[in-house]
Amino acid sequence: MRKNIVAGNWKMNKRFDEALELVNDLMERLEKENELNAMVVLCPPYPYLEMCSDMSQESYFAVGAQDVSEQESGAYTGEVSASMLESLGLDYCIVGHSERRAYHHETNAVVEKKVKQLLANNICPIVCCGELLPEREAEKQFDVVKEQITESLFSLSAEEFGNIVIAYEPVWAIGTGKTATPQQAQEMHAFIRSLIAEKYGNEVAENTSILYGGSCNAKNAEELFANKDVDGGLIGGASLKAEDFMKIVTSFK
Ligand code: PEP
Repeated sequence: MRKNIVAGNWKMNKRFDEALELVNDLMERLEKENELNAMVVLCPPYPYLEMCSDMSQESYFAVGAQDVSEQESGAYTGEVSASMLESLGLDYCIVGHSERRAYHHETNAVVEKKVKQLLANNICPIVCCGELLPEREAEKQFDVVKEQITESLFSLSAEEFGNIVIAYEPVWAIGTGKTATPQQAQEMHAFIRSLIAEKYGNEVAENTSILYGGSCNAKNAEELFANKDVDGGLIGGASLKAEDFMKIVTSFK
């Protein structure tokens, strides 16, 4: 079901005591909100997932991992399976982030396998897509995103597709302070929704949450989220400070 979501991707930041402090701070702030118009998801590093999952029982946020293994189980040193994440009570997991694509050679085929592992374990994948700067400069952004979505997601059934979230993250906007304009975001989100409609029909497309990511912050979130096809954000840097993150979470009017 389509819902507004603000997910914080902490990436490889914060020691345990700092992570605990951030979650406590967020919990206090969430407690004070009368009404939230968005679902809040925290995606901390693996070692803090259990702590966050336990704390989420007392609060208004859900917890997600930042990655998952494409394998089910076995001799894969250093990997973490979807079933392990499920056993911690996690609801979400980011897949196909551009940093994993760039530094860990994650292809669309790998993303597809990870998505299937997560769905088999009842975890909602937040699937990232987005073009590089030279691709945007060459006006190839729609081709690139179409290929990513088609190759990584279109082998799913319509029912499975109903359980995923997409995050459009233009790579040139991630961690750079350069944000896509609200028009650029809306245009791409509408395009992604049209691809889903073509493949699975309007109902599935209308029910899919599509998040924007890329230097989204306390100042620009409201303008970005006001677009009809932007259902929230995947937030990196600005999710590391409770005050900033909460401003983003409360940006939905
Ligand atoms: C991200 O890495 O998903 C992201 C959107 O980062 P930032 O908000 O820092 O650009």
